[in-house]
Amino acid sequence: MKIAVAKENELGELRVAQVPDTVSRLVKQGFEVWVETGAGVGAGYDDAAYETAGAKIIADPALLWGETDIVLKVNPPAKRDGWSEIDWLKPGATLISFLNPLGDPALIQQLAQKQVTAFSIELIPRSTRAQSMDALSSQANIAGYKSVLLAAASLPRIFPMMTTAAGTIPPAKVLVLGAGVAGLQAIATARRLGAVVEAFDIRPTVKEEVQSVGAKFIEINLEEDTTAEGGYAKQVGSDTQELIRQGLSAYIAKADVVITTAQVPGKPAPLLITEETVAQMKPGSVIVDLAAETGGNCACSEAGKNVTYESVTIIGPINLPATVPINTSQMYAKNLLNLVKHLAKDGELQLDFDDGITSSACVTYGGEVRNERVKDALLVVSG
Ligand code: NAD
Repeated sequence: MKIAVAKENELGELRVAQVPDTVSRLVKQGFEVWVETGAGVGAGYDDAAYETAGAKIIADPALLWGETDIVLKVNPPAKRDGWSEIDWLKPGATLISFLNPLGDPALIQQLAQKQVTAFSIELIPRSTRAQSMDALSSQANIAGYKSVLLAAASLPRIFPMMTTAAGTIPPAKVLVLGAGVAGLQAIATARRLGAVVEAFDIRPTVKEEVQSVGAKFIEINLEEDTTAEGGYAKQVGSDTQELIRQGLSAYIAKADVVITTAQVPGKPAPLLITEETVAQMKPGSVIVDLAAETGGNCACSEAGKNVTYESVTIIGPINLPATVPINTSQMYAKNLLNLVKHLAKDGELQLDFDDGITSSACVTYGGEVRNERVKDALLVVSG
C-alpha cells in the first residue's frame, strides 16, 4: 500500500504529518511512502532527509493524493473556490487527519459521498489503550507549555523569586483554570519558571495530579455532580457556573497571570472570567485564553488577537502547536504511526470495527457517516 504525506497549505501551519524517522518505520512495516515536495520544510526536514528515510518525493499534489491508498495530514483538506483537496482522493482511499468533524460536518459528508474512509484524530478516545495515538493530547500538551511562555513574555515582571543586592523580588502568581492536558503542562511550565501556581478544575479528582506538578488546588464547593461518564467534565448548569465564577474571582484578582484551558468536549467553552473580574486584576496582568477559539473562558478574549482591557492583556492564541513545529510534528508523526500500525497488518489496512479505537476514530466508511454526533450536527446544518 502507498501512504502519502501531504503538504499543509494553511497560513502559519509549519507542522507535517510524518517526519523522516517515522517514515522509515512505515517503510519497515511494508508501506511505500510518498512525500509531497517541501512537506517537512517548516518543521526542519528537507526532501533529502525523507529520501534517505526511504520515501519517494512527489512534486505534483494531484498525483500524490490521487495515486496513494492512505493520505496523512495535520489539517483538514484545504478548500478553495468550490474546489477541495478531497476532489483528488480516489474512492476507497483512506484519509487520516484532524478533520474538525463537529465544527465542519459538511466536510465529513463530502468525504462519505466520495467513498473515502476517514479517520478523525479528534475522535480517538482519550483512553489508556489509545494514549500512544492521542494527538489531541500530544498537541495540547505543547500548547499548555507555550501558553505560559507567551504570558511570561508579555508580563511586565519576572516569574521567579530573586534575591539580589538590589533587593528581593517575590515570585509571580500564576493561576491555571482547567487542569486537563494543557492545564497540567501549563502548571508544570510555570513552576519550572519559578512562579507560585494555583489551579482549579471542575473535576475534584484532578486535585492529586495538580498537586503532583507543584500547584495548590483551589476547592469550590459545588452541589452539582460535575463528572460525566468516562471521567470527563460535564457541562454544568448556569447556577453552578455562576458559583464557580464567584468562587474564582478573588483568586483571579490576586494573580499576575491566568492561563485558562477549561473545556467540555464538543461544547462551547465555559465562561469563567467576566469583564468585571478582569477589571479587578492588577494593571499589567496577563490572561492567556487557550479556549479563545471555542468561545473563550474569558469574556474579553478574541481568537487570534491580543486585547487590552482595563490595563490587562488578554491573549487568545490560535494554533500554538504550529509555533513549535519540530516537536509537535515529531509527536504527531508518532501518534499517526501508532494509529496506522493499529489499523494495519503486513502493510495492508485491516479494519476491525469491534475494536473501540478503530470504531471511534473512523468517521466515514462505505459511503456512510459513522459517528452519531456528526450525523446530528449534519441535521442541524441542513435545518
Ligand atoms: P482537556 O479536556 O484535557 O482539559 C480541559 C479541562 O477543563 C478538564 O480537566 C475539565 O475538567 C476542565 N473543565 C471543564 N469545565 C470546566 C469549568 N467550568 N471550570 C473549570 N474547569 C473546567 O482539554 P485540553 O486538551 O487540555 O485543551 C484545553 C483547551 O485548550 C481546549 O479549549 C482546547 O481547544 C484548547 N487548545 C488550544 C490550543 C491553541 O493553540 N490555542 C491548542 C490545543 C488546545
